Amino acid sequence: MRVDVDRDRCCGAGMCALEAPEVFDQDETDGLVVVLLTEPPDTLDDVVRSAAEQCPSGAVRLRE
Ligand code: SF4
Repeated sequence: MRVDVDRDRCCGAGMCALEAPEVFDQDETDGLVVVLLTEPPDTLDDVVRSAAEQCPSGAVRLRE
């Protein structure tokens, strides 16, 4: 799976970083999403999908 984010859409809600902290973080200065792993291991697929579903702004895009 490949993870992309649209920082222009991100509102800094932080749901992704809470759900999958191995893959997502928030920038210390603006609070917007930072992707730590653009190609996370398969073992994280479920939490990455959950993080994408919980993002209130639809900023997380996943490509299988
Ligand atoms: S959940 Fe969505 S809006 Fe919130 S920080 Fe993550 S990408 Fe941004």
